[in-house]
Amino acid sequence: MSLTETVAGAEACPVCGAPGGRPIYPEARDPITLDSFRVALCSTCGVAYTTPRPNSLDRHYPQKYRDYGWIVTLVLNALYGVRVSRWARLKPTGGSALEVGCGPGLMLAALHRRGWRVLGIERNEAVAEAARRAIGIEIVAAPVEALPLDVRFDLIIMFHVLEHISEPVELLRECAKRLAPAGRLIVNVPNFSSWQSRFAGSKWLHLDVPRHLMHFTPQTLAATLKRAGLEPAEMRFASLEHDPYGWVESTINRVTGRPNTLTRFLMGLEPFGPAVLLSIVLGVMLVPPALLLSMASWLAGYGALMEATATLSATPEK
Ligand SMILES: [Zn+2]
Repeated sequence: MSLTETVAGAEACPVCGAPGGRPIYPEARDPITLDSFRVALCSTCGVAYTTPRPNSLDRHYPQKYRDYGWIVTLVLNALYGVRVSRWARLKPTGGSALEVGCGPGLMLAALHRRGWRVLGIERNEAVAEAARRAIGIEIVAAPVEALPLDVRFDLIIMFHVLEHISEPVELLRECAKRLAPAGRLIVNVPNFSSWQSRFAGSKWLHLDVPRHLMHFTPQTLAATLKRAGLEPAEMRFASLEHDPYGWVESTINRVTGRPNTLTRFLMGLEPFGPAVLLSIVLGVMLVPPALLLSMASWLAGYGALMEATATLSATPEK
C-alpha cells in the first residue's frame, strides 16, 4: 500500500486504495501523547481514516491499555455474559469460537463456560500469558493468517479491533477464510456517524486517534465487509459499557477543552488536581442524561458503538 501523501494531504484510503481524501478533522489530538493527526474522508468509498499513520504505534499505547481493575472486570463479565448468551444460541450444544484481539479473554471464557471450544488471538504476549493463566483457555500470540485453513469456526469475534487495523479488508478476508459455512462473524467498532460522534466532533472519546486508524459508519462498515466476501446480516447499537461513558467524557472534553481528563486520571496518566475534580463533578452530573441519550440513540440506530453480524457471502466480490 502506498503511503505517499497526496495534494489533499492524506494517505491512500485503507479500504479502496483511492489516493488522497478530504480532511474532515484538520486537527484531532491523541489524548494520551497530545500529538496532532487528521481524519480524512475517502471521496471514493466514503470511509474515514486517521492520517498520517504513525510508523510505530508503540508510544501511543499506554502500558496499561485494556488492563482492567477488578471492579471493571466484574461489570464486564456480567455484560459479556448477556452478549455471549445471544451468540451461543447459534449452537446451543456448543460450537467453536475464535476471538481476534481477545485481550483478557473474558468473552471467550463466557463461551467456554457454555460448552464452546474457544481460541483467542492476542498480539501482546504478556496480555496473552496473563489471560491463559487467569482463565485457562488457549490463546496464541500470532496473526490470523498463521492459523491453519482447515480449522473453521462457528463464531469469529472482533471486538474493538477493526478500527485499529491499517488493512481492514485483508484482515476480514483472512477471517472469512476461517469461518464455517453457516458461521457468523461479529464485528464491534465505534460508529462515526453516531449522535455522540457528531456532537463531540474531533473531541469524541471514541475517535481515539491514532490508535483508531479507521472510523466506520454503518454504511462503510457494511461495504468493507462485502469487499472481504462477507454479507452483513444484522446491525445492533446497544453498548452499555462504552456508550454512556462516551457521552460523559466527550461532553467534559467539549466543556473544559481538555482531552479525556477523566479517562487519563483513571489510567494513571494524570495526577489528581482541580481539572480532575471538575471532571469528576461534571461526570457525576452527566450520568442520567448520558444514559437517556444512549438509550435514545440505540433505538434510533445512532449509537456510539455498533455491532455487525456477518455471514459468508454467496458470491464473494473480487
Ligand atoms: Zn476509499
